[in-house]
Amino acid sequence: MPKSLTLSERQASDPEQGTAGPHHVVVVGGGVAGLEIASKLPRRVGRTSVEVTLIDRESAYVWKPMLHTIAAGTTDVSQQETSYVAQARNRRFVFAPGELRGIDREERKVYLSPLVIDGRTILPERAIHYDTLILAIGSQANDFGTPGVRDHCLTIDSRSQALDFNRKLMARVLEADADNSILDIAVVGGGATGVELAAELIQLTDVTAYYGAAGIHNKIRVTLVESGPNLLNAFPDPIAIAARERLERLGVTVITGARVVAAEAGCLRLADGQQIRADLKVWAAGVKGSDACAAFDGLELTRNNQIVVTPALLTTRDPRIFAIGDCSSLPTGDAGKPLPAAAQVAHQQASHLIRHFPDWLEGRALPPFTFRDFGSIVSLGGYGAYGSLGQFGLFKGGFLRGRVAQLGHIFLYRSHQSRLHGFWRGGLIWLADMINSHVRPRIRLPH
Ligand SMILES: Cc1cc2nc3c(=O)[nH]c(=O)nc-3n(C[C@H](O)[C@H](O)[C@H](O)COP(=O)(O)OP(=O)(O)OC[C@H]3O[C@@H](n4cnc5c(N)ncnc54)[C@H](O)[C@@H]3O)c2cc1C
Repeated sequence: MPKSLTLSERQASDPEQGTAGPHHVVVVGGGVAGLEIASKLPRRVGRTSVEVTLIDRESAYVWKPMLHTIAAGTTDVSQQETSYVAQARNRRFVFAPGELRGIDREERKVYLSPLVIDGRTILPERAIHYDTLILAIGSQANDFGTPGVRDHCLTIDSRSQALDFNRKLMARVLEADADNSILDIAVVGGGATGVELAAELIQLTDVTAYYGAAGIHNKIRVTLVESGPNLLNAFPDPIAIAARERLERLGVTVITGARVVAAEAGCLRLADGQQIRADLKVWAAGVKGSDACAAFDGLELTRNNQIVVTPALLTTRDPRIFAIGDCSSLPTGDAGKPLPAAAQVAHQQASHLIRHFPDWLEGRALPPFTFRDFGSIVSLGGYGAYGSLGQFGLFKGGFLRGRVAQLGHIFLYRSHQSRLHGFWRGGLIWLADMINSHVRPRIRLPH
């Protein structure tokens, strides 16, 4: 387990700074965990000032649990994104745009790929020096090596991917409407992401019909394919059953116990030889650590490509590098079962680090992180929501459904915004969203 270094030990071994210099924290990945850290990490510890640089490959942040609504077009990204440059200005950190491509632990540097926009190199490859590095680069879809997935399926793991899916979807929807043809969409993976996306796609057809595309309901078919016996295997049975019934009533074809063995241009192939027709295919069947982790200079990784961390959230091989959120793996309990890749875990780990960072910087050991499971909510867009209350709190083990669960889902997002922007600003953003919902179109219309 890495030893905690005192501030003076850290500074003494730092070739680029004197004892009175600022401590440079570099956060890579401005997602649920990383943006919260960059926004809220204390800027002074005792007599030492702390400078924070945030690196992200995107130019703006979107709360990842909302990406399926952006992919479906039922949320307009321009109203929900936070520009990193603006957040950096408001929360006093430096934003460095770019993609992390490697780490030199000896020199304490991270290397960023050149920033290329529209074929033009805006920034060359860069190296940024750190005193403390916090890796929070999230996860990516896991195709489990299934042939054809890379070439024929879309994923919605990032803002860019969700927007790309939306562009393709809108073009296909317009085409189906104009040609009077059928658009088959298949979503692979019956976890929360797949279930939520399927419901949003139905909502898209409802709203498209409202804007004049009469008969569009009969032209768009959504199929949800899951390899396990039930949808939502992380949720209690009553929720999984209720969500399936609701989706089927909305017109989604749900196929369970069906393993996809290949994706091809116009279809998915199942293990039993069946073919599912699909013009658009979305892969949402599990996550793994980012491919970039392989270039992280010998940090310990799991077979799932996640960075192994100690209970203090430090990487096992470097006492200056933390890893939090989906990109990390913290074995828990006797069985060493890792924590789930969930926004709740990422947020709690960020809060833990923000709270205890000053002590750690002054050489005191970080207390172990413990996850408090407050439950999960799955939202079927405007058609309802279901939630389990987790194993912590007054109502542990209980269920939520209907309006209460929907309010729970809204509360999660709004409390996240208030952590990022502050209570008053977060409240104003909420108010602006409510006004927009009355004055703007209910879907992202093509323009
Ligand atoms: C559609 C969808 C719905 C979901 N719904 C829920 C839900 O309802 N409840 C729930 O708890 N969880 C949900 N999740 C999971 C949840 O969003 C993640 O667990 C959470 O976002 C993880 O937070 P993070 O900070 O670790 O990573 P992220 O929030 O994914 O942030 C990672 C950041 O790192 C950046 N990045 C990645 N690689 C690099 C690189 N090489 N260089 C520079 N920057 C990089 C990315 O651009 C991103 O900004 C959902 C996920 C998806 C995709």
